[in-house]
Amino acid sequence: MTRPYNFSAGPANLPEEVLRQAADEMLDWHGSGMSVMEMSHRGKEFVSIYEHAEADFRELMAVPKHFKILFMQGGGLAENAIVPLNLSRGASADFVVTGSWSSKSQKEARKYCDVQIAATNERGGHTSLPPLASWKLRRDARYVHLCTNETIHGVEFQELPDLKALGSDAPLVLDFSSHVASRPVDWSRVGLAFGGAQKNLGPAGVTLVVVREDLLGHALPICPSAFDYKTVADSQSMYNTPPTYAIYIAGLTFQWLKRQVEGHLSGVAAMEQRNRAKAELLYSAIDHSGLYVNGVSKDCRSRMNVPFFLRDESRNEAFLAGARERGLLQLKGHKSVGGMRASIYNAMPLSGVVALVDYLQEFEKRHA
Ligand SMILES: *Cc1c(COP(=O)(O)O)cnc(C)c1O
Repeated sequence: MTRPYNFSAGPANLPEEVLRQAADEMLDWHGSGMSVMEMSHRGKEFVSIYEHAEADFRELMAVPKHFKILFMQGGGLAENAIVPLNLSRGASADFVVTGSWSSKSQKEARKYCDVQIAATNERGGHTSLPPLASWKLRRDARYVHLCTNETIHGVEFQELPDLKALGSDAPLVLDFSSHVASRPVDWSRVGLAFGGAQKNLGPAGVTLVVVREDLLGHALPICPSAFDYKTVADSQSMYNTPPTYAIYIAGLTFQWLKRQVEGHLSGVAAMEQRNRAKAELLYSAIDHSGLYVNGVSKDCRSRMNVPFFLRDESRNEAFLAGARERGLLQLKGHKSVGGMRASIYNAMPLSGVVALVDYLQEFEKRHA
């Protein structure tokens, strides 16, 4: 039986192979007589799962040695507080606001430090990126925050800014929750990146943080110990009980990613090529239709989250019902913007996008 295609923005679809392997290993992981959920996080079985997951992520994302990889809890929203608690030193931080998520981040950081909005695309309704030349970065900012893929507005940075070239020595902080592992990261431009797993890596409950070592050890005294990056790094993410099952599933997803091949490319490079092809197919269908519209500038359209609207919004319910009938699930847009949204993360095969495009065309014809 084939499963429906699931376009949820998150928690999102996982590779079927990962789900099947987890099902096979549910009652007895590798002859241990235990489910991964029932293991001590300090036992040799789970420690090996953890070490493989960390090493595989490092390899997949080409994370340099001078960065730590942390598996934390609290999701992206907790990181909105944890980052200023660790990096701001109670001083100042600059934010580039490009949609709902970076806007939430700057609001939360105001509890801990002096926040400035260095640039925003708010006036255009979050449909393009503010040009680098317009960014007003402060010399004394302790970090500069971006959301590199705005999950709700469908705006994605296609390249990371080089802050040094903009005259700033501040570390760049990325919220890459919704496109982590969909494309490579230029770590030479990054101080810290965080992302909840539930979009592109695994189930909800684990948050990945990749942090440059020199940024550790500067947490504010009020920072909860479990959220002090240095404490977490020094204890291999086991200062308190980590979300063991979520880490295990993320680890299976990393192994799946390593197996992916496109031509001579593998791993994240293969995913990037596949994601580009998927996104081009879907945007092209939207742009060539008379019924659907996506208002984001072409140079910053997200490859992961494709919001679109029906020009005739009275057909929204019929559109969603017809989609469900065809096994195309969770296409309803975020409540704050309405319309539709197709999230086409790593685990969405090209065949899922083809099925969606077929449906878009058929629905348009039927309602012409
Ligand atoms: C989903 C998401 C978050 C929030 O993650 P939680 O796990 O719900 O805290 C933050 N940032 C971005 C870009 C997201 O897509």
